Amino acid sequence: MTTDTLKNTATNEPMTATDYRPIERVIAPPRAHMVGDGFRVHGFLPATVGMQRMSPFLVMDYNSKWDVPAGTTPRGVGVHPHRGFETVTIAYKGRVAHHDSSGGGGVIGEGDVQWMTAASGVLHKEYHEEEFSKSGGIFQMVQLWVNLPAKDKMSTPKYQAITHARMAQHALPDNGGSMEVIAGNYQGTQGPATTFTPVHLYNARLNKGGKAELEFPAHYNTALLVIEGSIRVNGTEQVPTDHFVLMGNAPGKILLEATEQAVVLVLSGEPINEPIAAYGPFVMNTEADIRQAIEDFNQGKFGYLED
Ligand code: MN
Repeated sequence: MTTDTLKNTATNEPMTATDYRPIERVIAPPRAHMVGDGFRVHGFLPATVGMQRMSPFLVMDYNSKWDVPAGTTPRGVGVHPHRGFETVTIAYKGRVAHHDSSGGGGVIGEGDVQWMTAASGVLHKEYHEEEFSKSGGIFQMVQLWVNLPAKDKMSTPKYQAITHARMAQHALPDNGGSMEVIAGNYQGTQGPATTFTPVHLYNARLNKGGKAELEFPAHYNTALLVIEGSIRVNGTEQVPTDHFVLMGNAPGKILLEATEQAVVLVLSGEPINEPIAAYGPFVMNTEADIRQAIEDFNQGKFGYLED
């Protein structure tokens, strides 16, 4: 496949390597660790690049395909608090159940997303859904922590259940597949999630040979995660399954080409240029904020949730 049909929109000349947004790093999955007994994750963020480099995305835990044995007790993580950010869980295989102390909750299945704004504080628990636990099967998901700006960290918690059916679909040219927009906008197609700062989050579902062009402001922190299949980025860089591509902060389009049928998580966001003080499940701006969070948690101000 060649890229000679892609034109630089400013000059109408064929794209050259210098017109593309540069690739900063291609990162192989770090050694997996367990979160509770239900999530076997590769911690791409913040371990590989730090907490500010991909701001507003603080954490990316990627549970690559895992064949979970059938069991009687659902695996997962018991009741724990969060304050100061949002957790975004994207299910690719298997089903996850969630409950929080603000009354939010539900089950998400293949293709669904739960967008939980912890903000001033919630308790929640995250488990494999009961029937999935009984049958076992392939489990694959991503959890992102999306930071909130200081002015919104103490806002009211909320919960957005974004089923696959609600996502906006943007058909790619030449039957190349679909850009599924979860948040933000792709070429005029607006995703359903509401965000506090500008965030674009898509699943590129590409047929073999399918192409997609992406363009974001140069200062937006931008990355790709190959969930399924393999892709070529910018006409040159071959990226296999489960690899993370950190894009440089320079202008230019990103070209994705599926060398086999592929699913790619695309994330891009305007950085929140504020100090970060992080301690376990709390992400705030100062050490004093963290002490306050711990005190509020100890005093039961995060509400109540049955284990
Ligand atoms: Mn959690």
